[in-house]
Amino acid sequence: MRERSDVPLAPLTTLRLGGPARRLLEVASEAELLAAVRDADAAGEPVLVLGGGSNVLIADDGFAGTVVLVRARGVDVEADACSGAMVTLAAGEPWDPFVERAVREHWVGIEALSGIPGLAGAVPIQNVGAYGQEVSQTIAGVRSYDRVEDRVRTFAAADCDFAYRMSRFKREPGRFVVVSVTFQFALGELSAPVAYAELARRLGVEQGERAKAADVREAVLALRRGKGMVLDEHDHDTWSAGSFFTNPILTADEAAELPDDAPRFAQPDGTVKTSAAWLIDHAGFEKGYARGAAALSTKHVLALTNRGGASAAELVDLAREVRDGVRAAYGITLRNEPVVVGASI
Ligand SMILES: Cc1cc2nc3c(=O)[nH]c(=O)nc-3n(C[C@H](O)[C@H](O)[C@H](O)COP(=O)(O)OP(=O)(O)OC[C@H]3O[C@@H](n4cnc5c(N)ncnc54)[C@H](O)[C@@H]3O)c2cc1C
Repeated sequence: MRERSDVPLAPLTTLRLGGPARRLLEVASEAELLAAVRDADAAGEPVLVLGGGSNVLIADDGFAGTVVLVRARGVDVEADACSGAMVTLAAGEPWDPFVERAVREHWVGIEALSGIPGLAGAVPIQNVGAYGQEVSQTIAGVRSYDRVEDRVRTFAAADCDFAYRMSRFKREPGRFVVVSVTFQFALGELSAPVAYAELARRLGVEQGERAKAADVREAVLALRRGKGMVLDEHDHDTWSAGSFFTNPILTADEAAELPDDAPRFAQPDGTVKTSAAWLIDHAGFEKGYARGAAALSTKHVLALTNRGGASAAELVDLAREVRDGVRAAYGITLRNEPVVVGASI
């Protein structure tokens, strides 16, 4: 386990924002991860578990405690033609190389989740999703350390309480440390049914049809690049935490109040999802709208970006301005998707 003091956190996040960690422990195995968190808890030390830093906004003051940087690697595969593939990933496995491997090995069901940064341990936290797929559709179980009960617990998918950008792990922030994630995949060269209209159009198939999984991956990567949603250190539009706000879920009555041309996606439980990007755009915040060195992406209003040299405080101010502007225009309060450490929006 590598220990360092006063470590700048900005370079460990995709927003490249945030002050120093008082102490940083880089853990390379499950045993080290458990020991680091247990020891810090026993010492009454605040703990922040950090994966790829692609879904966090850390305050300029940094973190006055122990940051546990998860770098535990390992992939375990059990595959046969009858039951498909059961694949267990240690929390520190990088996500997108795994998606690439899944497509190559004909493991079906995560091809539309191509190009998402970060590590495997974080994907169950907010039930990572994009282009019509969510990890909850293929996760079989999540092994975690419960800091309240001081024991390792494995949750079957049904017990993870997955919902849109939500899970039991996110509902009780900090309680569970994800140690590994097990996926169950069907085998095949074709993708899962394409569930997203824009992706189906790009692939030239009907929504609900399948396409070659490799083609789905390429199409998703192309769509994402066009929106600045694939990391590129030379492109400030990707110095972000991805979508900064989740799409609001409204009651049918609330949805009826929206302008006629606002997007509405009926949900199975009778609620209606609308588009945060549409609300932001129509509330008067155009692409590139800036507040100092913090700005909306020039490719996509939903990403708040660091143009270089921004402070976390500037980004928080921009987020508040956008949230308040949308609330004033439509009476809807946007919720931030990234985890904000040491500040609040
Ligand atoms: C350009 C870009 C595009 C993105 N596109 C998408 C997208 O399409 N869909 C989507 O859902 N997300 C997207 N994201 C957000 C982000 O990539 C995902 O949420 C990703 O899963 C975060 O992984 P991470 O390892 O970077 O997590 P981190 O940012 O390191 O951590 C995020 C949160 O999870 C916690 N955490 C991390 N690892 C663990 C662990 N092992 N145990 C317990 N808690 C842990 C952290 O404490 C923190 O609260 C995007 C981000 C960027 C920058």
